[in-house]
Amino acid sequence: MIRINPCFEQIPRQYLFTQTAGKAADWVKRHPEKSLIRLGLGDVTRPIPAAAAEAMAAAALELQHSATFRGYGPEQGYRFLREAICRWDYAARGVNITPDEIYISDGIKTDCGALLELFDAESVIALCDPVYPAYVDAAAICGRAGVYDHRSLRWSKLLYLSCTAEHGFVPHPPKCHADLVYLCFPNNPTGAAADRTQLAEWVDWANDVNAVLLFDGAYESYITQENIPHSVFEINGAQRCCIELRSFSKSAGFTGVRCGYTVIPNELRREGRCIRELWERRLSGRSNGVSYPVQRGAQAIYSEAGQAQLRETIAYYQENAIMLRNGLRDMRFTVYGGENAPYVWAETPKGMTSCEFFDLLLEQCGVVVTPGVGFGSCGEGYVRLTAFGDRKETQTALERIRLLM
Ligand SMILES: *Cc1c(COP(=O)(O)O)cnc(C)c1O
Repeated sequence: MIRINPCFEQIPRQYLFTQTAGKAADWVKRHPEKSLIRLGLGDVTRPIPAAAAEAMAAAALELQHSATFRGYGPEQGYRFLREAICRWDYAARGVNITPDEIYISDGIKTDCGALLELFDAESVIALCDPVYPAYVDAAAICGRAGVYDHRSLRWSKLLYLSCTAEHGFVPHPPKCHADLVYLCFPNNPTGAAADRTQLAEWVDWANDVNAVLLFDGAYESYITQENIPHSVFEINGAQRCCIELRSFSKSAGFTGVRCGYTVIPNELRREGRCIRELWERRLSGRSNGVSYPVQRGAQAIYSEAGQAQLRETIAYYQENAIMLRNGLRDMRFTVYGGENAPYVWAETPKGMTSCEFFDLLLEQCGVVVTPGVGFGSCGEGYVRLTAFGDRKETQTALERIRLLM
């Protein structure tokens, strides 16, 4: 008799986010005359750079002629894109990464789960709390997370690194054993960024204990402060212990187009094996790469025009983020993030739970935020507001909240 993957019995339904979406839909029904403002968005709203759209269109047209038709591309990604990434994202920052160490993917969410396949099933996986839920789901679906406890909101086999305001939501390396650590800076959901010293502490620890860091740099393009590294490979020794994931989703609005990349340095070796070669072997069996037009679109981001268009959109979101941060501060909220990330992490007032505050903002203001507890137990007492919305709407949301406070 066929049986389903038993891990699915353990995996909780995403009831919190389903519930909040349901409440928002219900509010709209009850208030047909009012407008709902969504500051819970995890998706961008501004269009992709024109340079990328034009390059994709041109690439699509190439495919109709036999002279320029292309079938399966290289699994690793086209060299033209890997070279552009190498030049613009690494060499320009003084980081020595070669095109051979770069792997084009259809986005980070895919790779952050798939990378687990390179390591033993008994590896201890550590992650931040609060956390981007995709890491947890990936570990749980392949049976590496153990048993889920609904009370603590934690899995028995995962090692949680509590992120609190006390240390600016950047955890120190654990004192106990861990093999694989998911780190994401600038962070979703807290908006915290790790500086050079903090990242160096992690890299030194990983090299000491032989751990591997899976570094999610999805929000790299939002970094504004000088002391925040744009790549983990700016840190000495990182090439021996880190894998970096980057995405065009939040930088170039590619959430629907789908493209990102993973960097596995040659120097990353374990048990005498080059991890990059294992990944290549895995890719050849599990993937046929990313479509040609999409890779041409991504390449076009690395041009003067593409960069200018991208910077304009990022600046728009950054201004929203600062407006949210300052606006909430003026109302005496304790807020974090927003400076190097499109997320503002706000403490709930008067000791409310994150769900109580969600309800209050929805009912009284018609503003949707994300309850922090949805990202883990340490997110309790916070809500996340995103800067991906419309400028005017973001302003209106602040005015409505001001009336309430
Ligand atoms: C949005 C986001 C991503 C992007 O994932 P893609 O699959 O590339 O769209 C990755 N990591 C984090 C933390 C995110 O918030």
